[in-house]
Amino acid sequence: MNIQSTIITLFFNLVILFFLFSSTNCISQKAANQEQSTTQAKRTNVEQDTLFSESLSLLQKNTQTYYASTITVINLKNHIELLASESFEGRKVGERGQKMAGLYIQDFFIKNDLEPAVPVDLGKRYIQEFEVEKSKISTITLKTQLKEKEIIYQNKEDFLANPLTYLHNENELNVVLTGYSILPNEQITGRGVALFLDTEDKETIFYSNQDWNEKTEKQVLLAQQAEAKAVFFILTNANNFKTNSKKLQKSKYLNSEIYTLKTEKSIGVYFLSMETAAKLFDYSEQEWEELAEQFEENKIPSSLPYATVSIDIKKESATTLDTENIVGFVEGTDLKDELIIISAHYDHLGQEEGQNKKFFAGADDNASGVAALMELAKVFASAKKEGFSPRRSILFLATTAEEVGMLGSSYYADIEPLFPISNVVANLNIDMIGREYVPKNKYPANDYVSIVGSNWQSTILHQTHEQANTTFTNLNLDYTYNSKTHPKEFFYRSDQYSFAKYDIPVIFYTSPDHKDYHKTTDTAEKIDYQRVEKITKLIFHTTWQLANQEKSPKKIEKNRFEDQN
Ligand SMILES: [Zn+2]
Repeated sequence: MNIQSTIITLFFNLVILFFLFSSTNCISQKAANQEQSTTQAKRTNVEQDTLFSESLSLLQKNTQTYYASTITVINLKNHIELLASESFEGRKVGERGQKMAGLYIQDFFIKNDLEPAVPVDLGKRYIQEFEVEKSKISTITLKTQLKEKEIIYQNKEDFLANPLTYLHNENELNVVLTGYSILPNEQITGRGVALFLDTEDKETIFYSNQDWNEKTEKQVLLAQQAEAKAVFFILTNANNFKTNSKKLQKSKYLNSEIYTLKTEKSIGVYFLSMETAAKLFDYSEQEWEELAEQFEENKIPSSLPYATVSIDIKKESATTLDTENIVGFVEGTDLKDELIIISAHYDHLGQEEGQNKKFFAGADDNASGVAALMELAKVFASAKKEGFSPRRSILFLATTAEEVGMLGSSYYADIEPLFPISNVVANLNIDMIGREYVPKNKYPANDYVSIVGSNWQSTILHQTHEQANTTFTNLNLDYTYNSKTHPKEFFYRSDQYSFAKYDIPVIFYTSPDHKDYHKTTDTAEKIDYQRVEKITKLIFHTTWQLANQEKSPKKIEKNRFEDQN
């Protein structure tokens, strides 16, 4: 069947459906009214009621149900089986399999009339290309030249370099100390910025994907936006410097190959002891302590202290890789400036090292999420063609390089957001939705999904998501991993985090921790396709609702670092 006839058939189906809906509507109106009043009486939360009934007529409900019905097991299964097949070679970042998977997603976006959104010289395209560096660092030294004398500082002794940031050489970098935070009017473009940092004895500062620290993260983002070259945090607590030094020595990242973004804007992050910082800025230790106190009392000196620092990085090996996010867009109508981002990573682990070279199929991780993303993109694009455009715009973002540190989403959010990052009202991220992960007897029908983050930042997002589920899909929403104190810290471990750090409300849909996770046995025949379909439908209804309801989900009432309970 060609495209035109598909459209005609679809339109025809739609007309028939509307007739059907309106006639059922008349017959069962009384019953529906009764049912509605009982459910309403059962509800206790008045606010939730207003939120949903405000925007959902029976016709709207039926429209949503119709479009959800176009999400099918067979389509999802086709994507998953193909992406997880040997011909995609495990979709390792920068390698052929990843690029083939990217092209597959792009073709699908084109075929289904998604709009391109990445600007190029003549128009727009679907591919957002960037560079990643894979390197193994051997030594890092800092140098200052004071009164004709060169002083050299060693990593792990005098300072700590964060191995997960883009550490690069700088010759005579001008570094300015701006106190405890970056001063709004201080010109730091092209310079280094030094900041005092107050920490507790045992506090972790920004070493692995799982050890985040709000204080450092905010300042690093500001420095990055201002196009500074490096950030030097000066730890005022000597015990904390020791704790983190020990932690760094033990870190698996220290002597292994790591991937970082390689862009003009990528910056290195360093932690200095008070002693090192005093020397670096040519102060006596006592003067330096006094200076820190002054800044703490907000007495900012009229001319800020500065130093000239050279950074010398020796790498055992370094390779630059090209890789691509794939992006499809559905522009909204009256609220089109507000953007919802649906994301799923399509890269995986490639092949095993050594002789027999089994490949990592990554059927659940994350062909399942990509299949959902593709089908969601198709539904919203076809609904728009048929006159049901979303009010808010929706961006479908298939990310790369997630497995090596969420670099694709970080590139999108930190370096090249295609629309202003402040206009993003929600991110729904899908990573692994095809397998069971809790003892089966807890939810016998296997009709559950793990939800992380929905109530961390926005009540509107959380309510919309729960109501979409009660109204349409009735899945068991499992919040086991949602606790802020859960040791697995899933909130920080997939692409949603790249958006949450900008205070964008997020939901992470997952089924983590099954026995084939990151093994070559994560294969397509083990996927529960009914389950993928149900979860995709839940995400569809939540997105539709978020895109069309009056209230914007972006209303931050909570700090994500505080406990939500
Ligand atoms: Zn994954």
